[in-house]
Amino acid sequence: MEDLELLIELHRPHDRQGPGGIAETNKAIQLAGLDQSSNLNIADIGCGTGASALQLASTLNAHVTAIDFLPEFIDTLKQRANDLGIADQIKPMVGPMEDLPFKEGEFDVIWSEGAIYNMGFEKGVKEWQRFLKPSGLLVVSEITWLTDKRPEALDTFWNSQYPEIGTASEKMAILEKANYSPLGYFTLPEHCWLENYYEPLQKSFADFLASHADDKNAGALVQAEKEEIALYQRYKAYYSYGVYIAKNLEESA
Ligand code: SAH
Repeated sequence: MEDLELLIELHRPHDRQGPGGIAETNKAIQLAGLDQSSNLNIADIGCGTGASALQLASTLNAHVTAIDFLPEFIDTLKQRANDLGIADQIKPMVGPMEDLPFKEGEFDVIWSEGAIYNMGFEKGVKEWQRFLKPSGLLVVSEITWLTDKRPEALDTFWNSQYPEIGTASEKMAILEKANYSPLGYFTLPEHCWLENYYEPLQKSFADFLASHADDKNAGALVQAEKEEIALYQRYKAYYSYGVYIAKNLEESA
């Protein structure tokens, strides 16, 4: 099978496709000062199978436009929304984050967990800004260095994977330069990576490999996932996702 098909099959059955957690999404909701009173219109970009989109819709009684470029993930999200009885609050869309089909100033909040790196943090926060209302909020998680210094091998690895990886102060400077005001920041704790994301994934490796017994690509995918997990285990003192909450200061788009 093709790599992308395999990746979809491996990740689709899980609650989330990246590190995160219900308590942490709630913490970001609180830091952003969001509540049920204002009929919020939210976009969740790179929503996967819907971890945050579904939580935002039910916790905030909000209307959530949930977009991802993988139709399979969006199908699963639709199913989950139906099962939860909140399908009327979710607008599922398939599309690329680099070319969003939104209107200027459409949203009170733009939310994105573990996804903006696909187009790059700086480009993402700049290009998505026009879809926010004046004073609208951006809540985005982004891979972040936790310390000023780190082992060279780790630095080299991440710079080859995602050269934009930076410290929180560097990310906040990008937000400020793009005319956002940072309101809050915290890092995802270890359980968001291990219990919530890597462990469920690890548990599914055996069945996944068994159903693709002679497929070299499937073996290579699982091997790559295992290496990612080992890297995290070894170097988790040095990187995590930072969650950034910022207010849009642009007057109009
Ligand atoms: N927010 C979800 C998924 C995070 S994984 C969660 O926290 O569980 C990153 C997601 O971004 C995946 O669902 C992937 O399909 C999506 N994605 C990757 N590149 C994309 C792009 N260019 N446009 C839209 N979605 C993209």
